[in-house]
Parts: sequence; C-alpha cells; structure tokens
Amino acid sequence: MSSDLVDLRSDTVTRPDDEMRRAMAAAEVGDDVFREDPTVRRLEDEAALTVGTEAALFVPSGTMGNQVCLRVHASPGCEVVCDAAAHIVLFEMAAMAALSGLQPRMVPSADGLPPLAAVAAAVPAPAPYRARTAILALENTHNMAGGRVFDRSRIDPLLALARERGLRTHLDGARVFNAAAALGVEVATLTRGFDSVMFCLSKGLGAPVGSLVCGARDFVGEAWRVRKMFGGGMRQVGVLAAAGLVALRRGAEPLRQDHENARHLAAGLAELAAYDVDPATVESNILIFRLRAGDAPGWCARLQEKGVLGIPMGPDQVRLVTHRDVSRAQIEKALEAIRSLG
Ligand SMILES: *Cc1c(COP(=O)(O)O)cnc(C)c1O
Repeated sequence: MSSDLVDLRSDTVTRPDDEMRRAMAAAEVGDDVFREDPTVRRLEDEAALTVGTEAALFVPSGTMGNQVCLRVHASPGCEVVCDAAAHIVLFEMAAMAALSGLQPRMVPSADGLPPLAAVAAAVPAPAPYRARTAILALENTHNMAGGRVFDRSRIDPLLALARERGLRTHLDGARVFNAAAALGVEVATLTRGFDSVMFCLSKGLGAPVGSLVCGARDFVGEAWRVRKMFGGGMRQVGVLAAAGLVALRRGAEPLRQDHENARHLAAGLAELAAYDVDPATVESNILIFRLRAGDAPGWCARLQEKGVLGIPMGPDQVRLVTHRDVSRAQIEKALEAIRSLG
C-alpha cells in the first residue's frame, strides 16, 4: 500500500517503526522450543506482570492464543458459552470444533456482552442427554460490536455466575489494552478473575506479529504443550518478541489518541445524512456504521479511489479502525473523502 493511502481497514496494518526494527536487529535469541530464547522469556515475564497472572506464553497469532486456551480448558464434547458475534465464533475458521471438538453455545447481545440471564439459561443443569458447559468466553473490547468496552461492573456478575456453575473463564482480550485506555484503568484491572487471557501485540499496540496467552503457571504449562501441538512452537523468535517488548512497554496510553481519532471520525460522519452512526457508542478505536443507501462494498470501492480504505461488513455496514499509523490530519483527509462521496 502506498503511504499516501489512509488505511482504516484494521489496526493490524501498522508497520514496525525504527525503534522496533532496531530492537529486532539487536535481539538476543535462542531456540524457544528449548526455552532458550531470552528475549521471549523477558516478553512473557513482562506480559504476565502487566496482565496480573503468574505466567504468559508468546504465540504467533491471537487465533492460536484463543484456541490454545479453549483446548486447555475443556475436553471434546463440551460447550463454550460466548456472544453470538464473538471473534472465536465468526473469524477463527470453526477452530474450536475442528481442533478441539468443542461446540459454541452462542448468546445474542445488544453490545457484545451476553446478558447475565441469557448466559444462566445457556448453561443447562447436568443431565444425561446434555453436553457439559465448560467455558464462558468474553471479548473486551468487542470487535463486531464496534469496539465496545466493558468495565468491572459488567464483567463481575458474569464471572461470578461462571464460578458458581463451575465454568472456566476466558477473555479474548485482543484489544484489552484499548479497553484499559478507554476506561483509564490498568490492564490488570480488566483481566482479574479470568482463568485465561489472550491479548494481541499486533493490533493497536503496533508490533508486526504476536499475541500472549496469560494465566496461572500450571495453565500456561499446558498451553505450552498445546501450542506445540497446534504448530506454534517457534525457534529464534526473539527477533519478533523484541518488537513485541517495545509495543508492550509503550502500553495502553498512546491508544487514547486512536480513540480520539475514532470519535472525531464518528462525529464527522454523524453530520452526514447518508450514514446511520451513533457517536456515543464509539468507545475505542473501531467505528461500525450503516449506509442508509446500502451497498457497502461499492461504497468502499469508491472511497478507495479517493485514497481511503475501509472494510465492508455485510451488505450495508462499514468498519473503519484507527491506529498509530493514522494521524489526525489523515482522519481529516478521510472525512473529506467521505463528504465528497455525498
Ligand atoms: C484480531 C482478533 C483476534 C486474533 O486475530 P489474529 O488475526 O489471529 O491475530 C482475536 N480476537 C479478536 C476480538 C480480534 O479482533
């Protein structure tokens, strides 16, 4: 992509900057399958500290991180309760079924967090003809809900219910740093109480590759075994962990700018009659809105001719995502391009 394009398709499109590339070039490495890569060790230790768990494990992708966690928490034939628009259901290639023999029990929600009563109803009392429910999986921020953010008052009742029913809990925290930035709290405040947490270095944090699986020491020991089984054992991967460390140490604070940019974009769109957008629901770096005239693919193609990239989400919805490689001036350029579409 040429650099004068404003790429709002995803926060995964960021390029490693000079500081990251220098850290990658200078990284101390070893064979991580033998646990001999000191840079990976450092990344895992610092990630565990940030998330507030005993241990952490570097994995190649968020999808692998989520799927490793589900596999460790449950045996084949169990159910996973989650939101109906969860990433683990919509965008992970049916991996929980294909790799782990698990069945999602999807609960619809208004904003990405399944309601307590619906979750309670989705966990049947043990019966000789019912699958056992093993896991409650939540997502924060929630991608398909437009980056919605859930604070402790929303999370706690669900975790309490899960505990009461004997379920393991998993947080798909691909963007939990965005959630922390939006709420002005520590990441560990939002991850507390989950049996496992996955977060991505390769989204808003800006690293080229990688995610972390975080949990208790025994859990991460098992995750290490399953990561290898899923093909995620990596060798001199300190070159990637080094970029991840730079991203992790920058932390949540810089993401606040991305959130401001997303709100600015939403406010600009809300002034135009062609779009159905509620700026009050834009809480982080994702903006999903409806085109009153429909044809999201056509609209995105016309926008691309003006040098701005977005992603159609179904027939009449578009997703725009802000990130560290999009400046405020480029947000203005994007708004101008959108206005010119009429
Ligand atoms: C991006 C994302 C993931 C992981 O995606 P990968 O592309 O496999 O790294 C998981 N959950 C959510 C909510 C995401 O947005």
